[in-house]
Amino acid sequence: MLIPPAQFRRRLLAWFDASRRDLPWRRPLNDPSANLDPYAVLVSEAMLQQTQVATVIPYFNRWMKAFPTLASLAAAPEHDVLRLWQGLGYYNRARNLHRAAKHITTTLAGNFPTTPETLLDLPGVGPYSAGAIASIAFNQPAPLVDGNVQRVLSRLYAYPHDPRSRSGAAWTWSTAAALVPTSRPGDFNSALMELGATLCTPKNPQCLLCPVAQACAARDQNLQTQIPPPKPAKPSPHLSRIVFCLRRPDNTYLLEQRPPTGRWASLWQFPSREEYPTPTDLPHPPHPTLTPLPPLPNHTAPLHLDPVPHTLTHRRYTFHPRLINVPQSYCLPEYPPTPDPPPPPPPRPTRPPLPLGGKK
Ligand code: SF4
Repeated sequence: MLIPPAQFRRRLLAWFDASRRDLPWRRPLNDPSANLDPYAVLVSEAMLQQTQVATVIPYFNRWMKAFPTLASLAAAPEHDVLRLWQGLGYYNRARNLHRAAKHITTTLAGNFPTTPETLLDLPGVGPYSAGAIASIAFNQPAPLVDGNVQRVLSRLYAYPHDPRSRSGAAWTWSTAAALVPTSRPGDFNSALMELGATLCTPKNPQCLLCPVAQACAARDQNLQTQIPPPKPAKPSPHLSRIVFCLRRPDNTYLLEQRPPTGRWASLWQFPSREEYPTPTDLPHPPHPTLTPLPPLPNHTAPLHLDPVPHTLTHRRYTFHPRLINVPQSYCLPEYPPTPDPPPPPPPRPTRPPLPLGGKK
């Protein structure tokens, strides 16, 4: 860092005040002294992990409409919570948010923890979220480090090592802790993240527009595109799944619930299995708690629908949907058989939560 920290903070905050994005979980631009609801900060931080701001905004607005308070979230059934999260991925974030709301309303009698140490006791809250909530909602001078802050600090100090390594993380946290001010710590942390998200981007940082360019050692040495060093690329596995769209004569489709642990835990899906040789020769499923499908009647020829690609952070899927007409009496192990001809199935209170790949 090429200028004194106090000067750096002043410039960064002045830029933030003039150019910050107006986001629904932040203080309104026209009311900078408004108190922030810690529950809204908790929700936004949970949603923003691994997810872009533009994606989060509509989810956040829908969420706050459905669960406007911590107590309303704590009282909601998990089914409704997951349903609102549908499409954001990493569903454990939603479950942890739900557990945190229950913990605060019952065990803590509604008293929201205010320090990083006590916030760390909440399910799903790690050092980053604890720093974010403590500084943004409670004005505590707590540091935070996310990917944006890692990159900005590495460049400001021309830190030559990988900030994602163990020693790099220790350096980044201690540097962030030394910089966070006692006055406006939440805005300072938000400004660091905002700088990384808007100007000090991984590729092509816009140094000409940067409010703290004079402080930046990487820019001074023309190293800004080499710092931080790139992540070593990992090959992402490509998996193929057959998806059974089992349609009964009354035009209803059969869904199965996934096991309570693992990827997409407890969500509902069209039954999906690895490749099978013939419609009547179904293999045992890859997941030990997904039961094999009952044999399909011989006369049911599957209609092959277009493959659906679906990419997660660390793996890629291609789903091969097969539309198969089954008798009304056909059922999955979780479902009781219905008589043939059957009455219409009872309406469900809300549509079940599906992972995004299943929704496609
Ligand atoms: S000058 Fe460039 S590299 Fe340095 S902090 Fe600003 S945007 Fe990032």
